[in-house]
Amino acid sequence: MSKHILIVDDSKTIRNLVAFIMKKEGFKVTMAEDGLDGLEKLYSAEHIDLIISDINMPRMDGFTFIKTVREQEAYRDLPIVVLSTEGKENDIRQGLELGANLYLVKPTQPDTMMKNIRMLLG
Ligand SMILES: [Mg+2]
Repeated sequence: MSKHILIVDDSKTIRNLVAFIMKKEGFKVTMAEDGLDGLEKLYSAEHIDLIISDINMPRMDGFTFIKTVREQEAYRDLPIVVLSTEGKENDIRQGLELGANLYLVKPTQPDTMMKNIRMLLG
């Protein structure tokens, strides 16, 4: 069964670009446009193997989203990758402290992203 990736980003351009890269790898993709939408999609999906999340988003930002996901027993080991334009040390530290496995700063080379994602998926 193909891996199911949840992409959470308020930019439609980024969502579609990341989805394109993931689909090319044979992954199944679900997209959400902010943290709240991300939670809804996560809860309604049968299974999610990995989340790729933006930080700056309306309604619920990536930090709150990651924190909310990580606090739940069922998602303790779910790999979370941040993909954000915010590359300041504080942002990166906060993202990792809240439970992201990896923090990538945009723009990221698709090859680099895929290498890391494959590693996280085991
Ligand atoms: Mg954004």
